[in-house]
Amino acid sequence: MATIVENLAAVRRKIERACAAAGRDPAEVRLLPVSKTHPPELIMEAYRAGERLFGENRPQELAAKAEQLRDVGNLEFAAIGHLQTNKAKLITDWAAEFHALDSIKVAEVLDRRLQQAGRGLDVFIQVNSSGEDQKFGLPPEEVAGFAERLRDYASLRVRGLMTLAIFSDDQVRVGRCFAVMRDLQTRLRDIGTAAGSYDELSMGMSGDFELAIGYGATTVRVGQSIFGARLDPNAYWNPAG
Ligand SMILES: *Cc1c(COP(=O)(O)O)cnc(C)c1O
Repeated sequence: MATIVENLAAVRRKIERACAAAGRDPAEVRLLPVSKTHPPELIMEAYRAGERLFGENRPQELAAKAEQLRDVGNLEFAAIGHLQTNKAKLITDWAAEFHALDSIKVAEVLDRRLQQAGRGLDVFIQVNSSGEDQKFGLPPEEVAGFAERLRDYASLRVRGLMTLAIFSDDQVRVGRCFAVMRDLQTRLRDIGTAAGSYDELSMGMSGDFELAIGYGATTVRVGQSIFGARLDPNAYWNPAG
């Protein structure tokens, strides 16, 4: 079995190749290893291979790992999954970034806690680019209005947009989701919404990150290709409360 170090090297090579094919500078694309369901020991393996920021989709799991690894220098976590307002404190206490902002209610609760703590948070607006009912995120046509309203929440630094493309082997359908994101980014920049620069597109996972890079992804969130198959989250990782 390949080690995490080898997997990371392979993913980084693929990122470089995809950048070369797209005529992009690899320095524009950030790898965000997604460590969900995997224990802190594996995070530390990736850390020793040079990674510093890790994605987690469940707030309790993120907080528990961040707390356990709090003394590790420069190690940070990005919250990449849907957030309910009653879990907001876990994010404002423990996360460096939040990639799944899709409601004003969540923006308001995060902002209030951040104001109290006297800090800011980098956020990405989640967009439902595939139009699937079960997906979180705003419909593309609602994003500009939502972005405008985020001006009211000064502690949220809007970095850009995030999406999960349709899960499919059909590259054309997947590519269509990424194209929606690229077009939306262009539109937001043209409007000049002051709540953010919209420089970032967080999109692409193990199965589609190379394609996403072709459409302008600046952060790719890669789990399985680095850490292997996901574990049963409750078998290894059962945060108490
Ligand atoms: C799990 C997850 C990923 C990574 O998916 P892989 O298929 O393991 O690469 C990316 N983004 C989000 C929001 C996730 O929950």
